Amino acid sequence: MTKLKKRFIAGARCPKCNAQDSIMLFMQNGVETIECSDCGHTQTQGSDAQQKSAGGDLIGVFKPE
Ligand SMILES: [Zn+2]
Repeated sequence: MTKLKKRFIAGARCPKCNAQDSIMLFMQNGVETIECSDCGHTQTQGSDAQQKSAGGDLIGVFKPE
């Protein structure tokens, strides 16, 4: 099993349950993935977003609606 390195993203809000500070970011199969520790919702983002920013505003891609 590959041990996934997850880190919480301060201020991020889950697009599904709207829980704040519950979003973890980790790499899954080379794709940046977020997971809500509250409801278990996961979401991946495209490679273009990875090129745009290496950190900081990365979570801004995930909008509730
Ligand atoms: Zn959630």
